[in-house]
Amino acid sequence: MVNSKTHPVNVFKYCPRCGSANFPATGSRSFKCNDCSFNYYINASAAVAVLLFNEKGELLFTRRAIEPHFGQLDLPGGFIDPMETGEQAAIREIQEELGIQIHSLRYFCSYPNEYVFSGFSVYTLDLAFLAQTEGLHQMTAMDDISSFEFYKPQDVNLEELPSISMKNIIKELIQREGTY
Ligand SMILES: [Zn+2]
Repeated sequence: MVNSKTHPVNVFKYCPRCGSANFPATGSRSFKCNDCSFNYYINASAAVAVLLFNEKGELLFTRRAIEPHFGQLDLPGGFIDPMETGEQAAIREIQEELGIQIHSLRYFCSYPNEYVFSGFSVYTLDLAFLAQTEGLHQMTAMDDISSFEFYKPQDVNLEELPSISMKNIIKELIQREGTY
């Protein structure tokens, strides 16, 4: 992981506090500035994925309108804002992406992912929530998605899902079918 050219230890060159170039990595996920003693740690960023089923038991997928992975399938969701709960982030992201309200959120599972954006690896922990809505027929694709599509979890082509966390969430849905 540390060998990849997009890993933070191979991207960050200057102290974000004082601008010093004397800002060495002190491990695979930490830096310390030798001029101002600023410590910086690389942690996973939290994100949410929302699992919404229609009346036929098909799961809602979105098609990405932005890089990375433009044009590929995804689950609706996104990064959690600072000081937001996972549930709040799920409700906000669905409102922003699809224009509908969701409720009755239940935690399902979490999987890690590496999200490479502008030449930089963002390590995420993607939290999947099951949710309910009465708004599936009022959805509009907005924000960073171009359309939405429904597939039974076992029917979706996992090759169309670029992120390892989304593949793993779908696999877990298939394994636990009938128990959630
Ligand atoms: Zn510094």
